[in-house]
Amino acid sequence: MPEQDRQDHSRDQPRYKIAFLNGIFLLAMGLASAIGVYRLTMPHPLATIDFLIAGAACALWFYLRQHPDQVERVASIALALGFLLFLAAYLVAPQQGNRLSLFFLFSAAAFFLKGIRVGLWWLAAIIAAIVLGYLVRGGGSNFSGADLGTAILYLVALAGVFYFHETLKNEELARQREHDLRRELRVRMEHEKQLERLAHYDALTGVPNRVMLADRLAQALARAKRDQGLLAVCYLDLDGFKPINDRLGHAVGDRVLVEVTRRIRESVREDDTVARLGGDEFVVLLVGLQAAEECVGSLQRILERVARPIAIDGEELALSASIGVALYPDDEEDAETLLRHADQAMYLAKLAGKNRYHLFDPASDRRARSHHQLLLEIRGGLAGGEFELYFQPKIELASRRLAGAEALIRWHHPRRGLLLPGDFMRAVENTELEIELGEWVIASAVDHLRRWREAGLRIEIGINISAYHMQSAGFVPRLREQARRYAPQPDERWLQIEVLETAALDDIARISALIAACRELGIGFALDDFGSGYSSLTYLSQLDVDTLKIDQSFVRDMQSDKGDHAVVQGIIALARAFDMRCVAEGVENEAIHQALLQMGCELGQGNGIALPMPAAALAGWQPAPRQGTYDLLS
Ligand code: C2E
Ligand code: MG
Ligand code: MG
Repeated sequence: MPEQDRQDHSRDQPRYKIAFLNGIFLLAMGLASAIGVYRLTMPHPLATIDFLIAGAACALWFYLRQHPDQVERVASIALALGFLLFLAAYLVAPQQGNRLSLFFLFSAAAFFLKGIRVGLWWLAAIIAAIVLGYLVRGGGSNFSGADLGTAILYLVALAGVFYFHETLKNEELARQREHDLRRELRVRMEHEKQLERLAHYDALTGVPNRVMLADRLAQALARAKRDQGLLAVCYLDLDGFKPINDRLGHAVGDRVLVEVTRRIRESVREDDTVARLGGDEFVVLLVGLQAAEECVGSLQRILERVARPIAIDGEELALSASIGVALYPDDEEDAETLLRHADQAMYLAKLAGKNRYHLFDPASDRRARSHHQLLLEIRGGLAGGEFELYFQPKIELASRRLAGAEALIRWHHPRRGLLLPGDFMRAVENTELEIELGEWVIASAVDHLRRWREAGLRIEIGINISAYHMQSAGFVPRLREQARRYAPQPDERWLQIEVLETAALDDIARISALIAACRELGIGFALDDFGSGYSSLTYLSQLDVDTLKIDQSFVRDMQSDKGDHAVVQGIIALARAFDMRCVAEGVENEAIHQALLQMGCELGQGNGIALPMPAAALAGWQPAPRQGTYDLLS
């Protein structure tokens, strides 16, 4: 018998055992006191024993009342006392055969109170006592050996009856228990199933929820990878659901959602998954596609069916859906990213006017992402001091003396190494960051100017400023602050703003005003890359700039290309006519240098003269002497 069952069995017993014991105690009390009183009247010496028995029964009865939980212990004590009493009675007066029958009662009580195992021990003790008593008092007994044998047989039979009774009862108990266990298991499984449903399915619509969707999406993606098939992840958001919910209440909103879910499910195939993420957001997985066009039918069906009016309580409710679609493997991403892309595309579908689908475009996303990433990196680089100004000398072509330098921005990119403006300036064009970078360039140029001045070098620095930056609010006051920091001498040429010819002519009136304001601060202007735009002479005459920088593309090829030669020649003449200085960019070799000189160009800048260099190198830079002497113009 399993231990558990035995415990359960004994747990059923206490009430009966207590009643039984109480009965015995009361009976013993009553009988023993009555016999005691009777014996007192005789008088008889055993009266004291009777009262002792009554007292003991009374004490046990009382104890059991106070401690019903101690029923097992009380039963053991009662059995021990009873055994001693019956044994004494049997030993003192074996001739009274009826005393043997007391042992039957005792044995039955032992089986009842202590169960079959302990009961058998008691039975063995009783039989031993009877046989021993018979042997000790043999002659004095008034019952024969046969009586004794019969008594023992009865006792064993009694044990047998108890044994079978108990076995049957335990079997019944085991059956009951097994039945209970099965039922409990069934209930628990049912409960778990319910929990599982709650965890994986949307309670309102019954379709998979976010958790289940993740599972299905992972499976669908794995299958698409294995079979080289297509998978469309569609993110669907209802248009106009919120007003319905707000106006007609959540109960109606819920009914609408249930109906919409039904319609979406109706529009797709059995194998496809429709999941609700919450609110009015759904995700549809279209699987087993061979070509991208195949999902168009499903998408159009969904759009068309969702847009049909929904009749609720006599009212026709109008809704539509905006769907964003990410197509695997066109968009070769993991599940989470596909979902995000579909969500982004859904947003674009909304922007484009709702009630439509929009396909996510991985290529344009990559472009946007790398652009965004670049902007982040530039911002970080600016904060982290990764930018540096290089300086490229400008010289007087005739004397070969240093006439100034152009500040050119460089980026020491932690991964990509030294980057040129062409690698990153386009990204910041017309953004706040372009202004921040430009302000940094100005401040940094001023720092260098101050340091050079302290070292005895006065030089004019050209800085490249975009038209967007120049026209931003507060440009002139900020420049004024920098001028105050540098404090130039009156008439000192210290800073020259190079602005692209094309940009300067965009808004002549504004740029003219800016040029005038800068001139008051001793800051000059140059039109950069001159010749590459389409300046008309009228415009040029209106701009009070002091320098034209001939675009290097003309200078480089002017010796082989007649057209370029004519342009250079023309710009030089133009500068002279308008009383402007002229700088030729792209002086790559001595031949160009000489040619420019002959054409009457005053200043030159280019890799043939010097490559752009760090600020520290500029202070000690010496032009290579060729014809005439290079020295510093101070
Ligand atoms: P830019 O103002 O016309 O500057 C001259 C560019 O031509 C520089 O390129 C210079 O290194 C390059 N260069 C000079 N001499 C030669 C030569 O002989 N041959 C050739 N092939 N190239 C020569 P860089 O530094 O790459 O700058 C490119 C452009 O980026 C600049 O053209 C300017 O428009 C812009 N830029 C440079 N620094 C800044 C800046 O701080 N702010 C802004 N907004 N733009 C800048
Ligand atoms: Mg320039
Ligand atoms: Mg230029």
